[in-house]
Amino acid sequence: MKYLHRHTPDDIRSVPYGFTYKEMVEVIGESEARSLYSSLYKHSPKKEYLTMSLKTVYKDGNTEKYVFELLDGKCIEMVFIKRQDGGTVCVSTQVGCSVGCIFCESGRNGFVRNLTPSEIVQQVILLRRKVNRIVFMGMGEPLFNYSNFIKAIHILRDRNGLNFPTDGITVSTVGPVEQLKKLREEHLKIQLTISLHATTQATRNRIIPNMHRYDINDVVNEALSHAKRHNRKVVFAYLFLQGINDKPSDVRQLARWFRGKNVMLNLLEYNPTSNTQIKKPAKQEMTSFKQQLERAGLEVTMRISHGRNIKAACGQLANKYNEKNK
Ligand code: SF4
Repeated sequence: MKYLHRHTPDDIRSVPYGFTYKEMVEVIGESEARSLYSSLYKHSPKKEYLTMSLKTVYKDGNTEKYVFELLDGKCIEMVFIKRQDGGTVCVSTQVGCSVGCIFCESGRNGFVRNLTPSEIVQQVILLRRKVNRIVFMGMGEPLFNYSNFIKAIHILRDRNGLNFPTDGITVSTVGPVEQLKKLREEHLKIQLTISLHATTQATRNRIIPNMHRYDINDVVNEALSHAKRHNRKVVFAYLFLQGINDKPSDVRQLARWFRGKNVMLNLLEYNPTSNTQIKKPAKQEMTSFKQQLERAGLEVTMRISHGRNIKAACGQLANKYNEKNK
């Protein structure tokens, strides 16, 4: 409640996508809030309420990549994957990223800035498509923009607005431990995916360099505790990198952590980026690794990547436009 007093009616009217219905009512009263919320969420978005614009769209089969330009000239990318009845939207939470995963373009130029709740929400609004799943897997590490990310979820699920079902929302994170602890205590039934990608600290430090201050065992234990607390399966994403994280000792450690737990391991295929040090593994090696994991008693899926031709697959969202803007 304490932050409510800082907002004025002008704040609400100038960035209306950044507020929950309740916040609006507190500042501008119920009647104006109701009519504003209805124009924001029940009709096509009006220009005067938007703080970003669609710059370009790329299409590749059932995948579309949207590039949005923000008020300060920075750009972000968002991906939509069309399914039979609606689709999945993969939204960004930051311009750039500070984590620096070696397999990802988003962090190549480092962190630029956090997105505001309004900029996160507008990605879904500007899409103007039927969405049945929202995944926070675009540019940026959502938990490093914690309060804006959580606020955006509250706005998206607001009953008076989009009323998006919370269990249709997934957050994918490299797992900063303090934020995982906070997330566990939120009353939000969102799906948690941890980008693990390694079984030893040394390998993880190599793949996800800027997470070295977090002990890999702490990351795993926090995520398992989240699964327990919410009685919900946690997904651990594991990017298969031949010769780096596919040893028999990796299988043994994954089994030690996850056998018998409410966990699914999602084996991901590497999507080519500008890092030429990483070679694309052969399908058969990946399948054999999956079989070893299954024999060790783990539940494993292998994800098919969409949108490689338009650089919209995982790890390929980049700061191309921002480089030009610098
Ligand atoms: S994979 Fe995610 S956390 Fe890692 S650099 Fe890319 S955007 Fe950041």
